[in-house]
Amino acid sequence: MFAESSSPLLPGLESADQDALRAICAPRTLSRGEAFYIQGDETAGLLFPRSGLMRSSAGVADGEGVLAALIGPGGIVGLSAALTGRVCDSATALTEVVGLTTDGARLRRLAAERPGLALILAGVAAGQTAESQEELACYARHRIEQRLARLLLRLAAHMGGSEVLVTQDDLADMLAVQRTTVTALASRLKDAGILAYARGRIRILDRERIVRLACGCPQT
Ligand SMILES: [Zn+2]
Repeated sequence: MFAESSSPLLPGLESADQDALRAICAPRTLSRGEAFYIQGDETAGLLFPRSGLMRSSAGVADGEGVLAALIGPGGIVGLSAALTGRVCDSATALTEVVGLTTDGARLRRLAAERPGLALILAGVAAGQTAESQEELACYARHRIEQRLARLLLRLAAHMGGSEVLVTQDDLADMLAVQRTTVTALASRLKDAGILAYARGRIRILDRERIVRLACGCPQT
């Protein structure tokens, strides 16, 4: 049985729009590591996560990607593809994700009938563009130690505590560095008593020092 949360699908959405949106959605669960769509697919579905965390990565044609956005409850996965018709990122579940799914054509038809919904969607799309721009600036300007510390803080905030369920491979993918680079950095932080890790799980032991290590880029 799909346990649906009563919290709003999108912050600020009026209840009539909320109900209309739910009416075009179906439940969907993704297991940890499962791809929702891949960059270059012909079409991509939309997902409104109700629990868990998705990552969107933008890649180059002949190589790996870099993190574009982290999307949890209140966000939308696949919105850009739905609005533009181009699948320019890959969306993968970082944790188990339970949510609601629909397709771009249905969402566009509904938004054409409901200006309140259209405005909220435009706001979410603008927010995601801003987040991608912040990621790009951070990637270009800040050292890997700073970026790793910031990413750990963001993941911890999304996962609701000091424990982050993520593998070093995931971290390396999101930061667009070699796995060995992440392993060396994590090992230094472990030796310094700042974090502990076991397979697929990182615990932040000294949050203050992680905050000092992180760059000043937004963490939301
Ligand atoms: Zn930064």
